[in-house]
Amino acid sequence: MRKLRLILGDQLNSEHSWFQKTDENTLYVLAEMRQETDYVKHHIQKVVAFFLSMRNFYTYIKSKGHKSIYFEISDIENPQNLEKIISKCIQKYKIQKFEYQLPDEFRLDEELKKICSNLTIPSQAFDTEHFFTNRTELSEFFQGKKLLLMENFYRYMRKKHHILMDGSTPLGNQWNFDASNRKKYKGEVAVPSEKKFKKEVSEIVQQIREAEISTIGNIELNSFSWPTSREQSLEVVDYFCKNLLKHFGDYEDAMHTDEKFLFHSRLSFAMNSKMISPKEVIEIVISYYHKNESNITISQIEGFVRQILGWREYIRGIYWKEMPNYAQMNVLNNTNKLPDFFWTGKTKMNCMSHAINQSLDDAYAHHIQRLMVIGNFTLLMQIHPDEVDAWYLGVYIDAIEWVELPNTRGMSQYADGGIIATKPYVSSGSYINKMSNNCAKCYYNVKDKFGEKACPFNTLYWNFLDEKKEYFKGNQRMGMMLNMLNKISPEELYKIKIKANEIIENMDSY
Ligand code: FAD
Ligand code: SF4
Repeated sequence: MRKLRLILGDQLNSEHSWFQKTDENTLYVLAEMRQETDYVKHHIQKVVAFFLSMRNFYTYIKSKGHKSIYFEISDIENPQNLEKIISKCIQKYKIQKFEYQLPDEFRLDEELKKICSNLTIPSQAFDTEHFFTNRTELSEFFQGKKLLLMENFYRYMRKKHHILMDGSTPLGNQWNFDASNRKKYKGEVAVPSEKKFKKEVSEIVQQIREAEISTIGNIELNSFSWPTSREQSLEVVDYFCKNLLKHFGDYEDAMHTDEKFLFHSRLSFAMNSKMISPKEVIEIVISYYHKNESNITISQIEGFVRQILGWREYIRGIYWKEMPNYAQMNVLNNTNKLPDFFWTGKTKMNCMSHAINQSLDDAYAHHIQRLMVIGNFTLLMQIHPDEVDAWYLGVYIDAIEWVELPNTRGMSQYADGGIIATKPYVSSGSYINKMSNNCAKCYYNVKDKFGEKACPFNTLYWNFLDEKKEYFKGNQRMGMMLNMLNKISPEELYKIKIKANEIIENMDSY
């Protein structure tokens, strides 16, 4: 029976059982499509990274003897749309069965189900063999529970997969070393130089420009740094083990104006495109840890494992549990628009300027920049979560809806009413001052609320709490913040609200 097997751009798993043996009657298809480049405006580096990784994957499977076809974005034969590509291949190659791997995005899942229901030949969906969990495991784990706490899920995953366990006890006698993962970075240990691949990408960028794909952000044509093959992805893991793991946990929450990446692994694109799996990353890193225990503390490795075995799988489970309604949630009824400086980086706020310019230059910001600088700011500004989502989904190299949406709309914007976060991640300038050196070099004064040079975060913070106090009044975790709000005199609160509204209305001049 002649089979057509579809491989989506984020399904580049060469270890999948599909590729264990070759078959003359099986044809693989990969396609760069306008459908995928245009559903949101992506960062130019993201488009380049996906196209290059797909092309490398195609070359690899062909070299292993798998019959395959590839549509480049500029091929005149390319129909640029999933349904047309599938039907074109079925007709041209007289295909008798269509097979695909389960997509991770709801949008594509629905589309493929619909396409299959219209086909006159049989079809079948396969697991991607990438994650630790399937789509429903988290829902089953939390069945009947009101609170979907990540920590509970994480402990279950540690036990189930025997990761960092000594029998039934967690290694180091503690499940979680979060409390020791909150150091400010003051230059006490050197940050190793960035792992660079320095790839030449002018040809593919020209192809993207000629196709008139609209993108955001910047790219260096002779120094492209993201891994675009399995070998390079494994090199990044190796680099992480040898250079960054030692201090990963310590400085997980730190920010520094001279250090864009600190000790973060920058593995998210390699994993989200499935060039490498979370299982092998965890195995390699734990094995390195065990060989170097005299040098690396348990809190570093636990911090890293928690991100991948805990947060990454948890976020995926929440996505499949809550979609499609999740994508429309806006419980705080925020309606403001994003300021223009999200696309230009031009703002006098040093923390925002660094985080946004870095996002535009590198298609990357680390977790705390995404959560406690940019996300904190958009929530305090009461920006519509649709606008925030579209920006995050476009700008980051690793942004695919299943992971972007719950992180942005849920964890960072609290638009889901607390499904993920038990309280909103908001702060005044003092948190940013505590965790970074941004404020020391800022035009604004982090201690001030009023006056031309007052830090905008300060009044926006109290204004946000005041505007949303009715919504949060039953939330115990908000009790302390709301008590402090109550202690502010009516005169002071009035001044705060005037200032905050002036900031909201004139954001692009700040
Ligand atoms: P490291 O700090 O080295 O962490 C290791 C790995 O842990 C990451 O590669 C990632 O796979 C995983 N991880 C860590 N935190 C999370 C998390 N909260 N959710 C899922 N996986 C996690 N991650 C994405 O992959 N795509 C996104 O679109 C995305 N959007 C985000 C939006 C917001 C508002 C926030 C707060 C976080 C978002 N994250 C997203 C999670 C996290 O910020 C990134 O995974 C991380 O910054 C990637 O860099 P890294 O590989 O250097 O991570
Ligand atoms: Fe950001 Fe305010 Fe600090 Fe400036 S003073 S860096 S705006 S928190």
